[in-house]
Amino acid sequence: MRYKYCPICGTELIEKYSWDEGGVPYCPIDDMLYFDTPKPCIIAAVIKGNQILLLKQSYIFKNSKVLVSGYVTNGETVEDTVRREVKEETGITVGEIKYLGSEYLPSREIIMLTFMAKYESGEIEKSEEVEWASWSNIEDALCQMSEDEIGKGIVKKVLDEMGYAGNKAYRCECNNCTIDNM
Ligand SMILES: [Zn+2]
Repeated sequence: MRYKYCPICGTELIEKYSWDEGGVPYCPIDDMLYFDTPKPCIIAAVIKGNQILLLKQSYIFKNSKVLVSGYVTNGETVEDTVRREVKEETGITVGEIKYLGSEYLPSREIIMLTFMAKYESGEIEKSEEVEWASWSNIEDALCQMSEDEIGKGIVKKVLDEMGYAGNKAYRCECNNCTIDNM
């Protein structure tokens, strides 16, 4: 999003030259440049043995389960965000976190940072914004996440990381899936 007015003082921004960035909207009163940056967001596959933590949040996808996700808050690292969001949404504490790459969502100007996180402790205690949260067999996850393309991409990477050699997880992709999407 390209800013027109200063979000702090409301002054109309002028263009200021900033090295390689070229002209950048600038507030001379607050001495602040407003770069056109995407919103950083995390999405995490929480893994416990051969199980994965799946949620139901209808405002994201109506007929599909999803992974834990949330916006990075100012002042925290993205690893902090993963730990905080998993804890807030599900009550679970995660240990080791591994970065799995990023995806850009042009329609919402979001940069999605993807992770796998190992379960460490806790019982599922979902937050108000989550309708349902449960451990699912990782072999069934792809079939239950039909609408969530980014989430499915992460699960496939997790399966690779786990050295998964079976083909059960992929059967929903050959139209033979017998598992309901809820
Ligand atoms: Zn200003």
